[in-house]
Amino acid sequence: MKDKCLNCGIESDDVLLLSCNYKGEMLYVCIKCLPVLIHGAH
Ligand SMILES: [Zn+2]
Repeated sequence: MKDKCLNCGIESDDVLLLSCNYKGEMLYVCIKCLPVLIHGAH
């Protein structure tokens, strides 16, 4: 099972994914979506 960005669903083959631990669960977000998550979706 490949890791996917929680926001856009891109796989780690295509972009750098960053891992996040949220409520004991490992989530992944790509570097493209990270700023969106930090600043909040519009
Ligand atoms: Zn993404």
